[in-house]
Amino acid sequence: MSRQSLHILGSTGSVGQQTLDLIKLHADKFSVHTLTAQSNIELLAEQAVTHKASRVVVGDESKCEELKKRLSNTDIDILAGREALMTAMETPADIVMGAISGFAGLEPLFVAVQHSRRVAIANKEPLVAAGHLLMDLADKHNTEILPVDSEHNAVFQLFEKENASKVAAITLTASGGPFRDRAPEDIENATVEEAVAHPNWSMGAKISVDSATLMNKGLEVIEAHVLFNLSSEKIKVVIHPQSTVHAFVTYVDGSVLAHLGAPDMRVPILHALTYPDRADTNAPVLDPVDLSTLSFRPVDSKQFPALDLCYRALKEGVGARIALNAANEVAVHAFLGCEIAFGRIVEICTRVLDEKPAQDSFESLVSIIKYDKSIRDFTRQLIESEFQQVPDMSSKKESIA
Ligand code: NAD
Ligand code: MG
Repeated sequence: MSRQSLHILGSTGSVGQQTLDLIKLHADKFSVHTLTAQSNIELLAEQAVTHKASRVVVGDESKCEELKKRLSNTDIDILAGREALMTAMETPADIVMGAISGFAGLEPLFVAVQHSRRVAIANKEPLVAAGHLLMDLADKHNTEILPVDSEHNAVFQLFEKENASKVAAITLTASGGPFRDRAPEDIENATVEEAVAHPNWSMGAKISVDSATLMNKGLEVIEAHVLFNLSSEKIKVVIHPQSTVHAFVTYVDGSVLAHLGAPDMRVPILHALTYPDRADTNAPVLDPVDLSTLSFRPVDSKQFPALDLCYRALKEGVGARIALNAANEVAVHAFLGCEIAFGRIVEICTRVLDEKPAQDSFESLVSIIKYDKSIRDFTRQLIESEFQQVPDMSSKKESIA
């Protein structure tokens, strides 16, 4: 059988690297066509050589010359800049892995679903903000969408399509992140290091902060709504500190199906690459004998207000979803840059949902990008006028300077 060709959007990130790790393991099944990264050209070049890629794309154009130097003795095609990312996705592949972080992954995914047979999506923000368009486009082009986010991949594996109307509820599990046993007032001024130190998963910075606020789980509720066409009442969340059960699907007859696995992204990634087949893993495999305790508890919405905020956005509609996602990306970025305190992230998102500028139509990619941009500007202004700077952080900065 000929090997399946792959493009990886965001190959230098956490999901991207784990995807390549599996491709190395199954080099007989997959070949790499295009690899993309925003700026880490050292790793991008190394990956391209190791995996014999046909093409690389670097988002940051200022890195292009250096990348060319690094790949000068190869015949790898080198592209640079935002537009090049879209051009590259016009080349069909058997599978595209969407592993860019944030809304920035939306446009390349839009192109990918129009040209490639299967698009595996880890990149949840485009699904949150523009899932309605993305799923319609995939339908139109007969492109398979495979969820890579572990909970959604678990639901996908448990979901009986022929019994879709008999699904009473799905339950996504949340580890609760690094602050699951801390009171909100205790984590008000948590540092970046504390917030990104996830107890169970090793991930990029943005999703790690989202896991600490539980915004990640809220975005996943919206993602589940988009992927499985379920109303918000049928999508539930439970805290499960061990991250062993990834999701439950409850049917009307009382059967509750669960998906278990080691908390390792290589499990859902490999599933999304090989479905409907299965292939050997190099990730740890869960042994039921080792499962001494699995605990579950409801989410305390006072402790994690981000979850209710996401349910609210889901009920309010597409504009609110775009706004919440954009506000959160800007606020998390500001937190990672030590501009605002951890405790302000969800507060800023709430303010943006309450006060966001209006726009009616979200039926085109252009209208969504325009609205996302206006919300980013609005959020930046809000941060600069009301939320900037934690006093003890500014004094730290001054002393460093
Ligand atoms: P990451 O930060 O580790 O990697 C992001 C990748 O995207 C990098 O290759 C980077 O170069 C690229 N990138 C960043 N900004 C870009 C831009 N503006 N234009 C083009 N490329 C850009 O992120 P990650 O943890 O691998 O997460 C990727 C996506 O997968 C996110 O949407 C995240 O929510 C989702 N996800 C991640 C995990 C995980 O375990 N890491 C689990 C579930 C879902
Ligand atoms: Mg997840």
